[in-house]
Amino acid sequence: MSKGRDKHQERHHNLTMFGKDLVRRCGAHCELCDASGEPLSIFEVPPVANDPSYEHCLMVCETCKEQVERPKHIDPNHWRCLGTTMWSEVTAAKVSAIVILNHLAKKESWAQELLEQAYLEAEETEWVEQWTLGMK
Ligand SMILES: [Zn+2]
Repeated sequence: MSKGRDKHQERHHNLTMFGKDLVRRCGAHCELCDASGEPLSIFEVPPVANDPSYEHCLMVCETCKEQVERPKHIDPNHWRCLGTTMWSEVTAAKVSAIVILNHLAKKESWAQELLEQAYLEAEETEWVEQWTLGMK
């Protein structure tokens, strides 16, 4: 068996292990838009390390996942919720909110206004700087 395959399986195994904790943390709500009653899946917040970490994982709904992965088709109205998410106790959710707001703020003045109120710790700022929407 190749090393790459081992790595892949290990990663998958770790993500499955986090799964239960993530499900508990999110309480069946999307951790970005707070939608409930939607199928949720794990989204790894970039930069994605070789070893998946719990802190980088979010449970998100399909709409959020799709828009974050294809920011060209982003629907600004879906993201009004970020005014709440940017105060989340889950760092990955907070960081994602700021990154998405940074993207929206190019066109949306409400996003700009939210960013002006945002408060980030130094580590959070560092994390935000490592991820821009639309960048692989
Ligand atoms: Zn969502």
